[in-house]
Amino acid sequence: MRDKILAGNWKMNKTFGEAEELIDEIADQLSKKPVNSDVQIIICPPFPYLEMIRDLSEECDIQVGAQNLSQFEAGAYTGEVSAAMLSSMQIGYCIIGHSERRQYFGETDEIIAAKIKQALNEDIFPIFCCGENLTERESGRHFEVVQKQVEAALSDLPADKAYMIIIAYEPVWAIGTGKVASPEQAQEMHAFIRKLVAYKFGEEFAENLSILYGGSCNPSNAAELFKQPDVDGGLIGGASLKAADFIKIAHSFPEDK
Ligand code: PEP
Repeated sequence: MRDKILAGNWKMNKTFGEAEELIDEIADQLSKKPVNSDVQIIICPPFPYLEMIRDLSEECDIQVGAQNLSQFEAGAYTGEVSAAMLSSMQIGYCIIGHSERRQYFGETDEIIAAKIKQALNEDIFPIFCCGENLTERESGRHFEVVQKQVEAALSDLPADKAYMIIIAYEPVWAIGTGKVASPEQAQEMHAFIRKLVAYKFGEEFAENLSILYGGSCNPSNAAELFKQPDVDGGLIGGASLKAADFIKIAHSFPEDK
């Protein structure tokens, strides 16, 4: 059975005190109403809060992830944070290739592939994001675009670490817009991604790969999305900033999947 994963991407939100309050609230709600043991919760706060969130979430089995890491190993790269730094702080996950990084920070498929390799070298699970924009969807090129992104990300992965990759399908037109993909649209793309992965790494590998959906996922649409056979969880932006909403989403996984 594949891992079910719910990851919260806090992006560049919350002051230190607000972040403390939010993680306390999430931990408190989880202790009152725990999620199924097969659901892994990951919180991805801004860099400066990683240590605090890691310490405060230890008791409640929440994993911690970063939102980015450097494509370089170490050295004179002012402002960058390396995979080795994260792993030395026991940060086990990292979002890589988010569309906002592609859009505002010029991340290309090549840079993203290099970041995935850095993460794997340090045994950090990459949450690799892919997804088409609105023009690409409306012109019917969404499969082609996602295929290119996925193939670039998976090219040249170290065979013994490839199993660590987690893919998040995040249609750009759905991110932060309130316009969620329909369960059918999500399922269709997730099944397509799984096929691509099977082609490269084999059926068994693809069957074990967790593919998350991201883009305006909230407590009222999560259950329908998570019911889809190839949707293994979610990467949640806006709704991860409110403990009650995030916890409701965490309880939206079907029992029988
Ligand atoms: C995201 O940015 O990863 C995301 C899914 O955002 P939102 O849930 O706010 O659409």
